[in-house]
Amino acid sequence: MKALLKNIRDTYQARAARRLLGRMGGEAKGDATAQPLLILMYHRVLPEQDERLAFEEPGMYVTPETLDMQLRTLQPLVRFVELAQWVRARREGRPLEGGDGRLCCAVTFDDGWLDNYEFALPVLRQHDVPATIFLATGFIGTGRTFWPEQLNRLLKLAAALGPDSRAKGSLEHFISSAGIKPDSSRYANKEYAAEVIAACKQFTDAQIYQFLDDTFAHLKQDSELSVNTAEEMLDWHQVSAMTPTFDVGAHTVNHLRLNEAANPADVDAELDGCIEAIHSHLGSPPALFCYPNGDVSDYARTAVEQRFAAAVTTGNGINQANDSLFALKRIGLHEDASNTPEAFLAKLYRGAGAS
Ligand SMILES: [Zn+2]
Repeated sequence: MKALLKNIRDTYQARAARRLLGRMGGEAKGDATAQPLLILMYHRVLPEQDERLAFEEPGMYVTPETLDMQLRTLQPLVRFVELAQWVRARREGRPLEGGDGRLCCAVTFDDGWLDNYEFALPVLRQHDVPATIFLATGFIGTGRTFWPEQLNRLLKLAAALGPDSRAKGSLEHFISSAGIKPDSSRYANKEYAAEVIAACKQFTDAQIYQFLDDTFAHLKQDSELSVNTAEEMLDWHQVSAMTPTFDVGAHTVNHLRLNEAANPADVDAELDGCIEAIHSHLGSPPALFCYPNGDVSDYARTAVEQRFAAAVTTGNGINQANDSLFALKRIGLHEDASNTPEAFLAKLYRGAGAS
């Protein structure tokens, strides 16, 4: 029954989405400098049978088939543009070349996942769709992975550990202090892992990485489990090979959340270090920025405005002519909510804030 209602709702909202996208494109035709923009937000692209999915949150990926379907579904409805080109035209107050009465749409990928090279690049090339990838440069070519993925992996490994394990003790102490009740029987469960990750966002990144480093060290000493991680992030050769289909934007060095807890010197270092890394590896500095986790303090906002031409958030919506270039809204897409054309368009409709 629930599935049936969802289908009815999706069909209705998908139809509304087609009308909305058509109308917004038409409005832009009247005033070509006031070009609204739909931005799609992706993270990972992984096939359903890929073992990397075992350690991933459900909201973090689409399959290559789903990405292909989404681009095919949108192709007649929108005009795919490179985000940096749209930003340049907006800043210069001129219309974007080649306007054809369809709503502009930019595609973005966050973080710098290796799977973007393996699975997103071929699909984008096939459809001739440009994209922007926002790199957390401290993870590019270094073998490091982000704390949510490490924590997910640790939970799965801990499910197989005995009660005397120091690593398990350390994990349970940490998640208790985050306000989550340790429950060994649910460690391998994705929903439980998502709860733990959400709760841990109250800690600073430094605290979380310290805990993970200590706990993985215990695990290596105490158990026979293989704790080595597969390469998950891009290296700079792959990043180079992804241009010009991908334009490269900045996403800090260490994926630091730029909220009130981040001190100003760290914010500056994270932004400058990221710009410097991209500039030195690719030959030109990034024009665009993406706030990690969507967090931004007043200080960080000003620091970003001083260094970049525009910045994207995790806030939902379609960008209108007078919206700020430093808080560009995006609609996040993931496999669960958008793996059929109807569900995908319905998700866009809801993300546009039109429902
Ligand atoms: Zn990110």
